[in-house]
Amino acid sequence: MVEPGESSERSFPEIRAAVRALCAQFPGTYWRAQDRNRAYPEAFVRAFSEAGYLAALIPESYGGSGLPLAAAAAILEEVHASGGNAAACHAQMYTMGTILRHGSEAQKRRWLPEIAAERLRLQAFAVSEPDSGTDTLSLTTSAQRDGDEYVINGQKVWTSRAEHSDLMILLARTTPKDRVEKKGSGLSIFLIDLREATAGSVPQVSIRPIRTMLNHATTEVFIDGLRVPAENLIGEEGRGFRYILDGMNAERLLIAAECIGDARWFIGTARDYACARRVFDRPIGQNQGVQFPIARAFAQTEAANLMVEHAAALFDAGRPCGPEANMAKLLASEASWAAADMCLQTHGGYGFAEEYDIERKFRETRLYQVAPISTNLILAYLAEHVLGLPRSY
Ligand SMILES: Cc1cc2nc3c(=O)[nH]c(=O)nc-3n(C[C@H](O)[C@H](O)[C@H](O)COP(=O)(O)OP(=O)(O)OC[C@H]3O[C@@H](n4cnc5c(N)ncnc54)[C@H](O)[C@@H]3O)c2cc1C
Repeated sequence: MVEPGESSERSFPEIRAAVRALCAQFPGTYWRAQDRNRAYPEAFVRAFSEAGYLAALIPESYGGSGLPLAAAAAILEEVHASGGNAAACHAQMYTMGTILRHGSEAQKRRWLPEIAAERLRLQAFAVSEPDSGTDTLSLTTSAQRDGDEYVINGQKVWTSRAEHSDLMILLARTTPKDRVEKKGSGLSIFLIDLREATAGSVPQVSIRPIRTMLNHATTEVFIDGLRVPAENLIGEEGRGFRYILDGMNAERLLIAAECIGDARWFIGTARDYACARRVFDRPIGQNQGVQFPIARAFAQTEAANLMVEHAAALFDAGRPCGPEANMAKLLASEASWAAADMCLQTHGGYGFAEEYDIERKFRETRLYQVAPISTNLILAYLAEHVLGLPRSY
């Protein structure tokens, strides 16, 4: 019998097998307990990073493994296909890219080996704000130069993993919106040391968890007079939005790979149940009304996966891949959501029971149509930037 996802030659078979072996130590019972208690999956994150997976994309010269993006995608896909959830730590794979691409040599030498060795965690990136939402250019958190420092004030929302991270990438406005020459300029990126900023009796940064429908360790971050050394500015002042955009293709692709993993888990789980569950003296999977949705989800997932692989190959070849990375994220998140719905339906009432893991994965995979970018915004990008339709915003 073909396992979902084995119909085609899979890339990086050894890496995949090693990730699967690690994930086998963290079965559904582990993830259910974390989910129920809204606990950070520290044991998984530690094992995963100690195995070097979070440093997959850090070049060897800075202590990482220097793997291509396609390999990082395979790693995350396998975590999700095993029933786990890499969202507790996946961001470190791509947030470090901001330092790697735009940081000075001194910043790279200072931070990347520490991150690669897991002595420091860079799990958090703070872009979203309560009043700016998808419209990043309207963010109001400000950073003002004062001698050798910047003074930062403002508020971020949905800053995931901030409580479990030593460092945070922060996007702030260094030139007021009405004084910039170009719409996309005036924002800058800072590397914040959360250990210092959250310490003391009057911390300059306070972090407040947000309880959500899934276990995602997401937070609100309040910044009050935070003094950051000017040497923590990444790249040039005013070019931060461009730097964030530069990192988006990698982020889109890695999230898409997680969606493919989720979809494969849902399809395999539904297939097994449809073969085992007997109603009216026969397996429910003998009914085409049950078979066809599983087959359809499989086809949809394989098609989305082709786009993920195609976009990753372009990325790794250093070629432009904005449209492909966005389409990969769109198609993969739709495939995983369709597979989730199918899997729940295939299980009937049991799909709602916690012990089957379906309702947990269902909640987890739903996120990807909203974050890190919502489906509408991908469609707007394709319509307006790729197809040349009139701009809507
Ligand atoms: C669990 C979770 C974790 C997250 N983690 C992080 C993180 O670590 N760091 C971070 O910076 N952010 C994070 N986010 C934020 C996430 O990136 C945003 O929620 C997302 O970008 C959408 O922004 P919004 O929620 O403000 O929606 P809004 O911008 O308010 O949009 C609401 C709805 O309107 C639609 N919409 C808005 N404008 C348009 C338009 N012009 N055309 C068509 N439709 C439109 C959107 O598609 C969306 O469906 C996280 C969010 C969640 C839920």
